[in-house]
Amino acid sequence: MKNVISLRDLEEMIRQGHDLRSLPAEAILTPSARDFLRDLEWNGGGKAKPASAAADTGKPAGNGKPQPPSKPLTSRSPKAELDAFFNSPYCEDLKRQICDIGRRLWERAYVDGNGGNIAIRVGDDLVLCTPTLVSKGFMKPEDMCLVDFEGRQLGGTAKRTSEILMHLQMMKAQPKDVASVHCHPPYATAFAVAGVVPPTCMIPEYEVFASVAIAPYRTPGTPEMGKLVADLVDKHNTILMANHGVVTWSHNSAEEAYWRMEIIEAYCRTLLVAAQLGRPAKTFTTEQLQDLLKIKQSLGFVDPRYGLKECELCDNEEWRPGVQCAVPPRPGAEAGYDAEAEAAVQAITDQILAQMK
Ligand SMILES: [Zn+2]
Repeated sequence: MKNVISLRDLEEMIRQGHDLRSLPAEAILTPSARDFLRDLEWNGGGKAKPASAAADTGKPAGNGKPQPPSKPLTSRSPKAELDAFFNSPYCEDLKRQICDIGRRLWERAYVDGNGGNIAIRVGDDLVLCTPTLVSKGFMKPEDMCLVDFEGRQLGGTAKRTSEILMHLQMMKAQPKDVASVHCHPPYATAFAVAGVVPPTCMIPEYEVFASVAIAPYRTPGTPEMGKLVADLVDKHNTILMANHGVVTWSHNSAEEAYWRMEIIEAYCRTLLVAAQLGRPAKTFTTEQLQDLLKIKQSLGFVDPRYGLKECELCDNEEWRPGVQCAVPPRPGAEAGYDAEAEAAVQAITDQILAQMK
C-alpha cells in the first residue's frame, strides 16, 4: 500500500470492498482524505461512545484526528478485524496520547517506579491500556495492550497492567466512563493515607471538575479493590484510594481524566500550604458553590450534591487544621443550648443551696 493516501485512494478502496479501518499506522493522509475519514459518521448504538481523539483537544470532531470506526468492534469481532483495528490510525493516535499522558504523569512526579496506569475505552467491551512493569515516563505506542472487559488480552506484545481490572470494573459500573487514569500523586495520596476527603468551597476549579470520595484499602489489582472503587463512580469522578493513590475517570477523554489528576493534586497541595499560613482558610459561600454546581451539571460531570439545599452543602467540619466555613452557624442554636443549660445548672444550684440552709 502507498504511504501517502489521497481521497481518490480511499474511494477506490471502498469500491473494492476494503475496510478503511485497516489503514496502516504509518499511512499519511492528504487533507481531503482526512476530511473524508472524519466525516464518516460514528454510530455508537446509544451506548457510551469510545473516547474520541478529537474530544481530547476540547474541539469538536473535525480537527483532522483519526476517527473511530463507524461500527464499533467488540471482543467477539473476528481476530483479523481486531488486529486491523488495534493497528489502525485511530488506535495508533490513542496509543500516542497514552504515552504523552504517561510522560506528563512522570514529569510531574505523579508516578513512582512502574506505578500508575491509563485505560481508554475503544469499543463496547474493548479497552486500550498501559503495560505492566514499564515506567509511565518512557512508554512507546508499541507497548500498549488491547483487552476485553474481563481483562483478557486481545492485542499487544507487552503484558497488560494488573490494575486494568479496576479500570474495567469502573467502566462496567459507570457506562459514561470512556477513559481513566490511576497514579500516586504525593499530596492527594497523603489525603488518601490520612483518610481525609479534602474540604470544599475553596477553589472553583476543584468544585467544577472534581467530585471526590475515598475508597477503603484493599490489595491493588484485586477484584475487591476494583469493586470498592467502582461502587463510587456513580457520583464521583476522582477516587482517593486509601493508602495507595488516586484514580480519575472522564466521559470525554483520557486528557480530561488526566486534567482531574492535576486538579486534585494542585488542590491538596494548596490546602496544605494554606494550612501553614497561621490563619484558618476561608471558604466561599454555599450560594457561590451552588452557582459552580450549576456549571458542573451543565458540563455533564457527576456530583452527589446536585439538588441539595444550600444549608446542606457545607461539609468542612472534619478538616484539621481548621477551615472557617463561610456558612454561619444556625441562628440561635448555640445560644438556645447555653440558655437551657444555664437554667438547669441554676435550678440545681438553687436546690443544693436550699438544702444547705
Ligand atoms: Zn497504584
